Order: sequence, then C-alpha cells, then structure tokens
Amino acid sequence: MSTPKRYSSILLIGPPGVGKGTQGKMIGAIPGFFHLATGDMFRSLDKESEIGLEFTRYSSQGLLVPDFLTVRLWRQHVDQLIARELYSPTSDILLLDGIPRSQPQAETMRDYIDPCMIIHLVCENIDEMVRRMQKRATEQGRPDDADESVIRKRFEVYAEQTAPVLACYDQEIIYDIDALGTQAEVLLRILSKIVPAIANPCFDRQK
Ligand code: ADP
Repeated sequence: MSTPKRYSSILLIGPPGVGKGTQGKMIGAIPGFFHLATGDMFRSLDKESEIGLEFTRYSSQGLLVPDFLTVRLWRQHVDQLIARELYSPTSDILLLDGIPRSQPQAETMRDYIDPCMIIHLVCENIDEMVRRMQKRATEQGRPDDADESVIRKRFEVYAEQTAPVLACYDQEIIYDIDALGTQAEVLLRILSKIVPAIANPCFDRQK
C-alpha cells in the first residue's frame, strides 16, 4: 500500500493550558488515531543539542520556535514515526496538537497534511487555564509553566500568531468545543464530533 501524499489529520487548536495535550493523549489511545504533540516532540530533544538549546531559548520566554526549524523537525519526526511503524498514514488519522501554530506554518504544511476537521478548544476563563498550567508546572517540571509572566506571554503569542491559523481553513470543518468541565465531559464533546465524521471521504487514509 503506497503512502498517501498528505496525511489525513485532525487539528487540535486552543490556547495554552486549555487541555489539548490531555484530550489528545486520550483520543490517541483509541485505535486508528495517532496523537502527535509538538511540545512533547521538542521536550524529547537532547537539551544540549543545537536544536534543544534553541527550543529552550524560545520556550523559556513564551515564544514560538522559528517556523522553518519547527516544520523541518516535525517532518523528520513524522518520518521516524513512520519508519518505526508507530504511526501508519494508511490506517491512522493524525491528531496534531500544537502545529500549525502560525499562519506561515499552516501555509508550509499544506503540502504535508490534509486537515479534515479542526477541534477548536475554547475557554474564556484565563484564570482557570493559568491554574491548570501552574499545576502542570509542579507535576511535570515544565519551566515555561512556572513563571506567570511567561504564561501571560504565551497567551499573547496565541492571540497574535496562533488564533489567526483558524482563518487559513474552511470554516465548515472547525468545531468550537467548550473546554470547561471534567476531562470525560470534554472528551465526550470532542468524540461526538469526530466519531460520526470518520466515515466521511476526507478521512479516507488510502487516497
Ligand atoms: P502548551 O501546552 O502550553 O500549548 P506546548 O507543550 O504545546 O505548550 O509547547 C511548548 C512550547 O514549545 C511552546 O511555547 C513553543 O515554544 C514550542 N512549540 C511547540 N509547538 C510549536 C510550534 N508549532 N511552533 C513553534 N513553537 C512551538
């Protein structure tokens, strides 16, 4: 079976701390989905490598890693996942969490992904998201979650660079999901959009 030219994908988009990673991991545990989070990809780098140092330099200030570097690393990462038979483009839907995170990334990635659905996690309660991130800082030791001024910067970057990504896609494939509630409640809301759509031709992984 030949590898499709563009990977069938679902994009998870939403501000920091809204629950993309939490939901992505749960959905990624369902056969037929593969969750790929760029934050995890960056954090798995050797911290002393050139790219590992670049990542720390940007993320510690709440900034995005430059687009060119991010997309190049993402492509290498996907190639490795395919080579190691962890992700199969012909049978899995790629659940992308954290990419594209800017309009230039969305443009470049048109050649590689075919987004069939966008799950836009919405939460107007910034204090709740900051609280979740500070909890995560203690649990996971993430330096970019510990400092309140860095957290605020990430919200600014989200509004300026990431929220405009939504305008790059057909508005009909965007689903706003209320991200407030228990993990199970939010999961149910997301699955109620994804599961009925799986039969749509867009999700045909063989095309
Ligand atoms: P959050 O869960 O708060 O959204 P992530 O774990 O997804 O954060 O990402 C952590 C950091 O990794 C970001 O603040 C950014 O510096 C870097 N990063 C992740 N994805 C991208 C991307 N697509 N483009 C540029 N930088 C990225």
